[in-house]
Formats: sequence, structure tokens, C-alpha cells
Amino acid sequence: MMSVRLYNTMTQQKEEFIPREEGKVAMYTCGPTVYNYFHVGNGRMLVVFDMIRRYLLYKGYDVTYVQNFTDIDDKIIARGLEEGMDPLELAEKYIEEYFKDAEALNIMPATVHPKATEHVPEMIEIIKGLEEQGLAYAVDGDVYFAVDKLPNYGKLSRRSLEDLQAGARVEVEEQKRNPLDFALWKKAKPGEPSWNSPWGPGRPGWHIECSAMSLKYLGAGFDIHGGGGDLVFPHHENEIAQSEGYLHGETFARYWMHNAFLTVNQEKMSKSLGNFFTVREILEHFPGEVIRFYLLSTHYRSPLDFDDENLRMAQKSLERLQTSIRLADEALGRKGQGEVGEESKQKLKNAALEARQEFEKAMDDDFNSALAYASMFELGKAINSYLQSFPYYSEELKFARTTLWELGDCLGFDLAKSASQAPKDNGKLEEVIELLIEVRAKARQKKDWEMSDLIRDRLKDLGIILEDTPQGARWTIKN
Ligand code: AMP
Ligand code: ZN
Repeated sequence: MMSVRLYNTMTQQKEEFIPREEGKVAMYTCGPTVYNYFHVGNGRMLVVFDMIRRYLLYKGYDVTYVQNFTDIDDKIIARGLEEGMDPLELAEKYIEEYFKDAEALNIMPATVHPKATEHVPEMIEIIKGLEEQGLAYAVDGDVYFAVDKLPNYGKLSRRSLEDLQAGARVEVEEQKRNPLDFALWKKAKPGEPSWNSPWGPGRPGWHIECSAMSLKYLGAGFDIHGGGGDLVFPHHENEIAQSEGYLHGETFARYWMHNAFLTVNQEKMSKSLGNFFTVREILEHFPGEVIRFYLLSTHYRSPLDFDDENLRMAQKSLERLQTSIRLADEALGRKGQGEVGEESKQKLKNAALEARQEFEKAMDDDFNSALAYASMFELGKAINSYLQSFPYYSEELKFARTTLWELGDCLGFDLAKSASQAPKDNGKLEEVIELLIEVRAKARQKKDWEMSDLIRDRLKDLGIILEDTPQGARWTIKN
């Protein structure tokens, strides 16, 4: 079997993936900070790494996947205050909600989902180690990492200390020796959750959490460390500094992978910009598998713009694949009448073999799910055209159907299950809705508001929501 090549942010090139231990993959991603439902941008990161994990499983690796929850942090504390809720309870609530949305997107639970608050002793251990080596210093209950004590600080984001220093704002926190030093431990403030430590009560900094949890569950030199591109600097850079400092220079993680952003009008979707939609909201309009299908429709290192139209296109594409499976299943239940040439059967079988080959080629090349989709569509088309002349059982049809289903499964789609839930109307429903929209537009041209409203209201009764936009009416079906 061909090996996987992946883009390593550390070397800025595609490399052959060779795991630390043959046949095994140890993988860590920085999971959500739990103070809200996660948004579709976070969803992209989660789905992308779930896809990567699934493909590595498909390749036969034994994958240990660790994804943390940041359940203590400034934003969680602030949100707790706003809602009059204990921050730790607030985090607990959103962890529960996380699992509901993750399930809807068919994201497999990680092997371990460690919580930061349950690993404070491990973090203290690392900070102590850093302090002993002179890589960290305590000032009045806070502890900082001394970036200029580490020779290659900045190697992941390719920034030199000089450049960073030139760009750094004049620092107000005078207790830091260097403005680029970052907090490992933060002294407790009144009313905030805190833990005892050798430096007094306080709580961990964000970066140290991931170092402690990844090293605890995966050990030094684990294979893949991932997250969204926004984490390269400073988060991952700082994770490397702390961990490799603590490990006396040993490699922390071997391959660094980062997904590009989900954007809204070319801008990163983010909680702080307020331009976000939670997965929970989108689930009211689209099934989880459609959101997932959409999120994997572009290569993970290219930006993906979020809008309704793209989601609707994803829905149509997914339904095309589901329809091929459904039609194949119907045909497989019918005993053959009439003849089909050996040639057509062989052609279908070859199409299936070729689709799998193309699929694997795409995925082996840095997990190109967009190209992998193309191979599935080709196979779907081959099945459809075969069925037009011979909609009955054959070994070859069964083989092609199974292949298509397995490729879908590899990316986290159950094309058969969804197909049985999909309306058995051959897409006629959509056409009928479009027709009604057209009739309504004509009515509006004639200023027949009564007719236009009647159409809109009756559609609404059926759960079909029309929305008038400058480009014409748009519609969504409420599930
Ligand atoms: P956060 O909850 O903000 O810490 O983010 C959780 C994960 O989602 C991190 O790995 C982020 O890099 C990733 N992420 C956040 N926003 C986006 C976005 N708009 N597109 C893709 N990934 C994102
Ligand atoms: Zn992290």
C-alpha cells in the first residue's frame, strides 16, 4: 500500500508520513475552549482531523487520538460571570453540548478527551522542570517562560526573536523580563477558580495545558500535532518551547498539521469577531452529514467560505451519491430479466476499481478530500448509467455499490443510511418548490400580493421557509 504524504508546517513541505512506531499513530489536536456551542469554523477543524484520523485507520494504522477540552481560561471565567454561573460548571455544560454536535457531524469521540482542570498536577510538574533548568522564572505568584533562553524559539512560525521583538508592543506587564515571555502559571485573582502550587494559588496558562496533556497520553515525539492555522503562533510555538525545553531538547511532536479557516466574506469565522454560526444553529436547517460533506468539499489547507448556497450545493451533491446507492440497492433486490453484456458489467467493475485507486491517490496526497469526492462522483455516475440498461442484481453491481459505500464510510458518511432517510422523490420536491417560487414571482410581478403570500404561508406550513433576497427567493427546509 502507498504511504501517506502530508504537509508538515514545521518544514513547510509535503513529507512521507513515517510514524514513530510502525503501524501506530499518536495524534493530538487542540480542542475547543468550552464557553459556548462550537461554531462551524471550529467544526471545520474537528471534521478535518476526524477525516485524517479515519483515513489513517483505513490505511490500517492503530490510531490513538487525543483531543483536549480547555475548560479553564479568561473567556470561560468572563462568560461565567455574565451568566451568573460557576465557570467550571459552565465549561462542563458546554462539554456535554459539544458531544451532541460532534455526534451530529459524525465525529468519532477521541480515544481520550482530557480536560485541562484534571491535569493541573502534570502542568505543575513541567513548570517545575522548566524553572529548575532556568527556562522559567516566578515573579510574585506568576510564572513566565523565558523565550530568549531557548536557542530556536520561533522555529514553527519561522520568526526570529529579533523580528518578534521589533514587532512587539511596549509591554505594560513590567514584571516580564522580555515582552515575549508568556505565562505558564497565573496568580489567582479573587473569586476565580484556583489550584495550589509551589508558587501559591493560581491557574495554568493556556499553552502549558496542551503540553501536559499531549505528553501524558502520547509521550515525547508523538506523531501528529494539529489544530487550526491560527494556533501556529503563539500557541503551538509556545507548546514546542515549553515541551522541548522540559524534554531537554528532545522533539515534542514530529508532524505539525494546520487546517485553513472557514471564512465569512473572506474573514475568519470567529467568536471574537461575532461573525459566527454555531453548528447547533445550522443543524436546524441542514442535516449533520450535509454540514460535514460541505466542510470536506475543499482541501483542508485552502480557505472555505461559508454561505447557505454552498451548503445547499453540498446537500445536492451528497444526495446524488445517496441516490446512486439507493437505486443500486433497489436493483440488487430484483432478479435479472433481460440480458446485459459482459462488457457493461466489466466496465462497471473497472469503474469501481479505478474509483478506489483514485480515491486513495487523492487521500494519500495530503488528505485531498475534495479530489476524493470526485472519484466517488465518477463511480456514482458509472452506477447510474449501468442501471439505466440493467436495473437488476449482478455481482458487479454489488461490488460497485459496496465500493462506493466504503469510500463514503472512510470519510465518515453512511451513504446507505442517509439515502433511506432521503425523500424517495428523485429530487422532484426541489423542482416543485422552484416551480412554486416561479409562480409566486409571477404573482408578485402582477402585484397579486394575496397569491404571493398564500404560496409563502402554505409552504411555511409544510416547513419550507422562503426568504426574499436581492437575488430572488431562497428556500430552506426545516427538519
Ligand atoms: P477555539 O475554541 O477558538 O480555541 O478553537 C478551537 C479550534 O478550532 C482550534 O483548533 C482553532 O484553530 C479552530 N478554529 C477556530 N476558528 C476557526 C475557523 N474559522 N476555521 C477553522 N478552524 C478554526
Ligand atoms: Zn494546544
